[in-house]
Amino acid sequence: MMSVIKTGVKYVYRFDEGNAGMVDLLGGKGANLAEMKSLGLPVPNGFIISTEACRAYMKEGLGLLDQLWPKVVEHMHYLEHVSGKTFGGEENPLLVSVRSGAPISMPGMMDTILNLGLNDRTVLALAENSRDPRFAHDCYRRFIQMFANVVLGIDLDHFEKVLSEHKKQLNIKFDHQIPEENLAKIISHFKEIVKSESGEPFPQDPWAQLKMAIEAVFRSWNNKRAVTYRKIANIPDDLGTAVTVMEMVFGNLGSDCGTGVLFSRNPSTGDKELFGEFLINAQGEDVVAGIRTPQPIGALKEVSPHIYEELKIVAEKLERHFKDMQDIEFTVERGKLYILQTRNGKRTAKAAVRIASDMVKEGIVDARTAVTRVTPKEIEQLLHRQVDPSADLSSIAEGIAASPGAATGKVVFDVDEAEERGKSGEPVILVRPETTPEDIHGLSRAAGLLTSRGGQTSHAALVARSLGIPCVVGCEAVNIDLIGERFTVGEFTVKKDDVITIDGTSGKVYPGEAPLIEPSMHEEYLHHFLDMADMFARLQVWANCDTPEEARQARKLGAKGVGLCRTEHMFRESDRLSIMQQVIVAEKVEDRMDALEKLARLQKDDFVEIFEVMQGLPVIVRLLDPPLNEFLPKGKDVAKKLAQLWSEGRGESPEAQRLEILLKRIEGLQEGNPMLGFRGCRIGVLYPEIYEAQAKAIAQAACELIKRGVDVKVKIMVPLVATGQEMCMLRANIEKAVAEIAESYGENWRCKIGTMIELPRAAIVADEIAEYADFFSFGTNDLTQTTLGVSRDDAEGKFLAAYVRLGIYTEDPFRTLDRKGVGALMKMAVEKGRSAKKDLELGICGEHGGDPSSIAFCDRIGLDYVSCSAMRIPVARLSAAHSSLGLLN
Ligand code: ADP
Ligand code: MG
Ligand code: MG
Repeated sequence: MMSVIKTGVKYVYRFDEGNAGMVDLLGGKGANLAEMKSLGLPVPNGFIISTEACRAYMKEGLGLLDQLWPKVVEHMHYLEHVSGKTFGGEENPLLVSVRSGAPISMPGMMDTILNLGLNDRTVLALAENSRDPRFAHDCYRRFIQMFANVVLGIDLDHFEKVLSEHKKQLNIKFDHQIPEENLAKIISHFKEIVKSESGEPFPQDPWAQLKMAIEAVFRSWNNKRAVTYRKIANIPDDLGTAVTVMEMVFGNLGSDCGTGVLFSRNPSTGDKELFGEFLINAQGEDVVAGIRTPQPIGALKEVSPHIYEELKIVAEKLERHFKDMQDIEFTVERGKLYILQTRNGKRTAKAAVRIASDMVKEGIVDARTAVTRVTPKEIEQLLHRQVDPSADLSSIAEGIAASPGAATGKVVFDVDEAEERGKSGEPVILVRPETTPEDIHGLSRAAGLLTSRGGQTSHAALVARSLGIPCVVGCEAVNIDLIGERFTVGEFTVKKDDVITIDGTSGKVYPGEAPLIEPSMHEEYLHHFLDMADMFARLQVWANCDTPEEARQARKLGAKGVGLCRTEHMFRESDRLSIMQQVIVAEKVEDRMDALEKLARLQKDDFVEIFEVMQGLPVIVRLLDPPLNEFLPKGKDVAKKLAQLWSEGRGESPEAQRLEILLKRIEGLQEGNPMLGFRGCRIGVLYPEIYEAQAKAIAQAACELIKRGVDVKVKIMVPLVATGQEMCMLRANIEKAVAEIAESYGENWRCKIGTMIELPRAAIVADEIAEYADFFSFGTNDLTQTTLGVSRDDAEGKFLAAYVRLGIYTEDPFRTLDRKGVGALMKMAVEKGRSAKKDLELGICGEHGGDPSSIAFCDRIGLDYVSCSAMRIPVARLSAAHSSLGLLN
C-alpha cells in the first residue's frame, strides 16, 4: 500500500506561526489562539498540530504519529525554553493541556486533557513550587481521571464512586473540600482502577502520556457524539481536528485564582455589557460542570476590579479585531489574567439583530457584513410568540402549521361563544372540524384556532393568517364531538374550558399551559437592521393586504406596495354576505345591478381607506376570484329550513319562495371541482356587470382621493386568465368602466390593468396575454396546484408528507417553489411576457412570496417584487438582501 504520509509536510505550528485565517489547518481554537498571541494578549505559550496531520492519521494510523513525533518533541523543547520549565522535570515541571479544535466549532463534542505531565514525582515538585500540596494532588487526581477516561476509555463512574465514598466518609459535599491526606489515598486508588481496567499501569512517562493524548484527540474526531453532531449540523466528516498543546495555567491555586467564561455582549438580549460567569479557585471545566454554582461576571467587579477592567479591555479588543461578538475562556492564576480561547459567540435571534445593528453604529462592521449576520429564519423566530424550545414538553397531536405563533387558552367549540368570550378579553382556543365564512365573527376573537380538517388554504388557515392568529389546521388525530363539547386524541380527552396550547409555527398541540416566549424585539433595532438589508436588495417586498389594518401593519413593516388586495373578503362580513347573495341569486340583470350597486358603495369605502393608508405606493386590487357558491349557504341547510316552513304550513310564503330560488341557484352552481370551475375571470366574462361594478368602485375611490390630493397608485388585476382573448375582452370592459367614472369626477385618471399568471396555459401564452396586460403577478398557489395536478387540501394530511419523505418532492411544493416545474413555467412567462412588452411589471403574490428559497428564485428570474402576508415582510426583506448577496440559493 502506498503511504499517504507526505514527507516534508509541515504538521506542527508554533502560535507565532499561525493566524486567524488558518482555521482550516489549525482549527478554530488553534487559529484564534495564534491570532490572540500576535495581538499581544496574555495567552500561554503553545503549538498546534494541524488538521492535515489528523486527516493523515485517519488514513494511516500510528505510522503518522511516529513521523510526527520528532517535531512534537522539538516543539516541546521550545515550550520548555520559553517557560523555563522542564517536561517531566522534578524541580520545575512543565504541564500542558492537549486540546481538540475543529475548523468548524463543535463545542464539547471532542476531547481535551488538562494537567498532562504529572506523575508520582512531578506532583511533588508542583506541590513544592506552589507551596500548596493539596492543589498539586488535586491536579494529579483530575489528570488521572481525565486521561483514563479520554485516552484509555475507562468509565468515569469508577472514579466518581471512589470520590463519593470519600466524601461520604468525611461528611462533605464538594470535591474541593477533600483534604490532602484523602487525595493521596484517592490517587493510589485511581491508579489501581487504571491498572485493573486497562491492564497496564498508569503511564508515568510524560512523553508517553503526551503521545497517547495526541492520538486520543485525533481519535475523538470520530467518537460517537462528534459524528452525530456533524450529521445534525451538516459538517463534513473529513475535516479532522487540530491538536493544540499549551502550557497549563492554574485557576485553582487559591482565592486569588479563578476561571470563567465571558461573552463580550449579552448573548440573549444583545445588550452591550459583559456577560458570563466565573468561579474562584477552580480549573477549566469546573465552570460548566455545574458542581459549584458560578458567580455572574458582574460580581468580579467587587472581587477583583483590576481583572474585571482588564477583561473589559480584552473583550473590546477581541470584538474589534474579530469584528463579532466573542465567547471567551479565561483563567486567573495568582492575580494574572490568561486568555485561553475566543470564538464568535452563539446568540439568540433577538441578540443577533441588535448586535448587527449596534456594531454598524459603533463602526465595528459595515452594513453588508451586518446584514449577513442574521438569517431569515432567525427573523422569523423574532416575530411570533413561541413555545419555549427549552421546555420539556410532549404534544398530544400535530396538525398543519397554518398561521405562526403560539397561543394558550380555554377550549371553546361554539363560534358565537368564542366571539362573546373573546370580546370580553378571555383567551379562548376555538376548536372546530373546519370553519366557514359565516364563522368569521368568532374566529377573529379567538386567541388561537384548531381544526381537524382542511389544509394551508382552508378558510380557517387563510383567515387566521390574515388576522395574525396562531392556527393549526388538518389535525386529523383530533376527534371533535361538537354536541358533547369535547375532543379526544387517542386516550386523551379535552373538554370545553380545559386549557390547551397550540403552536402555529410547528403545528403542535399541547395539553395545558405551555411556557411561551414573547417576541420581544426592540423595533428600533429591527427597523435599522432591515433598512440596511434593503440597501443590498434588488427585489422589492410588497404585501398581500385585504383590510386597512393589514395595510397599516404592512407599511409599518416596510412594504413597498400592496401586491394583492383581495376583494372577496370584503363580501364575507355578514352584512355584505346577504347583499352578495342577492347578486348571485338575481335572475334578471336589473335585480343584480341593484344589489351590485349597494355592494359597490360599501366596497368603495373599503378601497378609500386602504388606498389612503398606502398613498404614494402601488396597490393592486384583484377582481372577484372564488367560485360564487362560496358565498352561498349550504344546500342542505336551506332545504332543511324550507322543509320546516312547509311543515308549518308556510310553504307558499315569500320567505319560502326566496329559499326555493336560493336552493335552485345553489344547485345550479354546484360544481364537482370548484377550483377548476366557474371562478376567476370566467365570472367577469359571463357576468360582466360584476367586474364592471368592482372596477367602478375602485375608480370612484381613487378619484375621490385624487380630488383630495392623495397620491394613489392603484392597479386592477384579473384572476385566472388562460387566454389572450379573456384578457382582451376584460381589459376593454374595465377600461370603459374606469373612464366613465373618471369623467364623472372630471379627472382623466386611468389605471394599469394586469393579470395573474396562475395557470400553465397562461405561462405558455404569456406573450399573447402581455399584449393586453400592463403587469403579471404569479399566483403560485394555483399555479402549483394546476402544474402538479395536485389539490393542496387533498394532498396535505394525505400523500404530501409521504411524497416529501420518499424524496419524490424534495420539499413541500406549496411552501417552497417547485423550481423544475412551476419555476420553469414562471421563467417562460417572464421571458415571453417581456418579449411582448419590455417594461412589463412582474411580481409574485402566492404564499411562496414569503419563503426565503422561493424569494431567491424570484430574484434570479428577474421579478420586480415579491408580495407576501404582512407578518412575513421582515423575513422577505432579509431574504431579498441575502439573495442579492449570494447567500441564498
Ligand atoms: P472545549 O472545546 O470542550 O471547551 P477546551 O480545549 O477549550 O475544551 O478546554 C476545556 C477547559 O479547559 C476550558 O475551560 C479551557 O479554558 C481549559 N483549559 C484548556 N487549556 C488550558 C490550559 N493550558 N490551562 C488552563 N486551563 C485550560
Ligand atoms: Mg473551550
Ligand atoms: Mg389563485
